[in-house]
Amino acid sequence: MRTHGAYGTYTAGCRCDPCKAAKCAYQRERRRVVRARANRHTDLLLGDPGGTGRIGSRRHVIGTAAHGQPATYIEQGCRCWPCTDAYSGKRATEKSRQSARARAVA
Ligand SMILES: [Zn+2]
Ligand SMILES: [Zn+2]
Repeated sequence: MRTHGAYGTYTAGCRCDPCKAAKCAYQRERRRVVRARANRHTDLLLGDPGGTGRIGSRRHVIGTAAHGQPATYIEQGCRCWPCTDAYSGKRATEKSRQSARARAVA
């Protein structure tokens, strides 16, 4: 018998509401952990010595990850430039889509 409201039950294929909620909570916690770890390994520099407009001298890079994907940035906390670029590109797309929708409503 399955225990509903457990992440393991969700991964086993159950999609009832308690199991979906458990999956959300699991992902939220996981993202919090990877973000905290990535932040520890990323120094934010306010100065911009290279003139590249980029900050962060020490990047948290996951060696085995598939780089250049927003998911790698979010799920694994990789902060290499390809992942960071992919993530900010995704954010920009979402933002422009949102403002386009806001304009459509107004
Ligand atoms: Zn369930
Ligand atoms: Zn990466």
